[in-house]
Parts: sequence; structure tokens; C-alpha cells
Amino acid sequence: DAKANGRNGCRYYNPALTAEAVHRVELEAGLRRALAHDELVLMYQPQVEVRDGSIATVEALVRWQTPDGRLVPPLEFIPFAEECGLIDAIGSWVLRRACHDAAQWQRRGLDLRVAVNLSPVQFRASGLLDRIREALADSDLPAERLELEITESALMADDADTHATLAALRTLGIGIALDDFGTGYSSLSCLKRLPLDKLKIDRSFVSGLPDDVDNHAIVRAIVALARHLGFRIAAEGVETAAQAELLGELEADSLQGYLFSRAVPAAELEALASRRWPPARGTQFRIDFS
Ligand code: C2E
Ligand code: MG
Ligand code: MG
Ligand code: MG
Repeated sequence: DAKANGRNGCRYYNPALTAEAVHRVELEAGLRRALAHDELVLMYQPQVEVRDGSIATVEALVRWQTPDGRLVPPLEFIPFAEECGLIDAIGSWVLRRACHDAAQWQRRGLDLRVAVNLSPVQFRASGLLDRIREALADSDLPAERLELEITESALMADDADTHATLAALRTLGIGIALDDFGTGYSSLSCLKRLPLDKLKIDRSFVSGLPDDVDNHAIVRAIVALARHLGFRIAAEGVETAAQAELLGELEADSLQGYLFSRAVPAAELEALASRRWPPARGTQFRIDFS
């Protein structure tokens, strides 16, 4: 096959491949510059408690503010950063910034927990615990105010190291949420053994609600499973009042999505976080957009 490619020259002179290579080199240089010149920004999206409409947790979501004013979404650079080895530096920056902001909110009397996304690469890195301890100590943030969101792929190994890391984080007092739940391949028996606090139902299951009967059944099953195992349940990607209402009926614990708020800059969060939405359970869920 390589021979065939070599003969017609495609393999080595494909302009698309060259463009891709150039793009990667530029992206890596750009990300290094972003780290050096403080071009990354964290935005925060609230999770609304079904029980009383308050905000207990906010998720930190990174963006890259380029010098030409573009706000690059994480999916355009995080997967690449994982490949080229920059995820550790970016992840550390995110962790420190999130802890710093959360400590600031606490000093101003806001009772919030901050959730930080951890890539599987970070989760397996040997210095993870030290980094987290450092970030907490430097910002003076109690560990209970930090939650880490990991994905099923971080747990794929399901080995002694995975368990040890999770247990150590839990011992520190940090919460662990399993993000995008239902999209990966974690076995249910593995789930049973893991020290988790929260399952976040993936947006793809929420998006079809309330009409999609398959998604309805899936969400119901996830909630029942999570309840049984003693995990809290958050739903992501909640965009309509009808979805919120149904998730409230199905007894999810917290809801996150554009219905309530997009991710906002830290400065705007303070006003948002003291706001209270109507509780989603037991009442007709209505949002007052005025
Ligand atoms: P995620 O952790 O599942 O975060 C939720 C994503 O869904 C966010 O996209 C959020 O803006 C979006 N979202 C929230 N509510 C809604 C909604 O109602 N409708 C729709 N259509 N989307 C909604 P974002 O910020 O673009 O982040 C995408 C992914 O990038 C995240 O998915 C997470 O996997 C990753 N990511 C973001 N920040 C970080 C980070 O600091 N570190 C790492 N390792 N990954 C990150
Ligand atoms: Mg997340
Ligand atoms: Mg998620
Ligand atoms: Mg997601």
C-alpha cells in the first residue's frame, strides 16, 4: 500500500496533509504563547439545584482569547493539547485559576463549589495529587469546595492506580463527578466499585426530552442506577423548561444548561450565583426571563 502511494506520489505530496501539519505546528506555537501571555480565560456555568433553585456548584470552562479577539472554544484546542503534551500546563493553569476564583467568592460570602474538568491524561499523570494540593493551599480554598469532573475514558483502565487516585482525592475531601455519563464504555460493575459523588447525564440524552421515548427511558434508568449506588445526579445541556420539568420529576438533583445560563466570566458570576430559580420539583417549572 505504501508502495502504491509512493508510486503515485500521493503519500508525500498531499497538499492537504501539508496544510494539516502546518496547522498543527501553528496551533502548538499559539498555545505556548497563550500560556506565556495569559491568553486563556475561565468562564463559569451554574448548576441549579432542583430542590430549591439555588446554585451550589459552577463548572469552570476554559476558552482561549487570541490576540485578534477570537474566543476559541475548548474542543478546538484541548484534544490537541492532550496530543502534544501541553494539557498538563493548561490543566494546571485551569486548576489554579478556578481555585483562586472560588476562594475569592468564598471570601465574598458566596457558598459555591467549583467543578474543574480533568482530561484523562491529567488524571493519569503522576504529579496530579501534588498539583491539586498545591492549588488548594496557594489559593486557601478548602478541598470541599473543589469538584473534579472526569470522563469514563479516564476510568477505562479500572486498575489499582485508578482506585488509589480516586480514593486519595476523596480523602482530601474533593468531590468526583463522572462527566458525559452514558457516552463512554464504563462497565456498570466498575461503576459500583468507584468512589464517585456525582454522575452527569450527557447532553445527548437530555436533548431529546421530553418527547424521545428512548432518551426518557435511558435517563430514568441512569437516575435509578445512580440513586441505588448513592451518587448525586446532574443533567447537562438543559435548554427548555419542559426538559427541566421532566428531569425534576425524574428526580435529578441539579440541572445545567442554557435554559439557566451559559458560562459567564467570573465577574458576572457573583450576580448570577445569588439568584434563585424556581425549584424544578413538585412545581410547574417556569422561568421568568424578564
Ligand atoms: P463538558 O465538560 O461536558 O462541558 C459542558 C459543555 O456543554 C460546555 O461546552 C458548555 O458550554 C456546553 N453546554 C452547557 N449547557 C449547554 C446547553 O444547554 N446546550 C448546549 N448545546 N451546550 C451546552 P464548552 O465550554 O465548549 O466545553 C466543551 C468541552 O470541553 C467540555 O465538555 C469539556 O469536556 C472540555 N473542557 C472545557 N474546559 C476544559 C478544561 O478546563 N479542561 C479540560 N480538560 N477540558 C475542558
Ligand atoms: Mg464537564
Ligand atoms: Mg459534561
Ligand atoms: Mg459534555
